[in-house]
Amino acid sequence: MSERVYGSRCTACGKVSYPGHAVCPACGGEEFDGGLRATGQPEDPAPQIGKRVRATIGTVRQVGDRGIEGLIFVPA
Ligand SMILES: [Zn+2]
Repeated sequence: MSERVYGSRCTACGKVSYPGHAVCPACGGEEFDGGLRATGQPEDPAPQIGKRVRATIGTVRQVGDRGIEGLIFVPA
């Protein structure tokens, strides 16, 4: 078991939040251009490093008959 807790710090206002958010709950700022790193699934079957994407929420996998929601990166 990991002893680390991961959250996020808004690059616009400095608010620290856990769990991390793609959109800051304090100021509504979107952090991706500010250095936030996030994991998700690329929609593009041949993704390229440096290519701009837009994050959406969708079903990333199935556990039994239940869909698990997560980030899906689509071309910007
Ligand atoms: Zn903020």
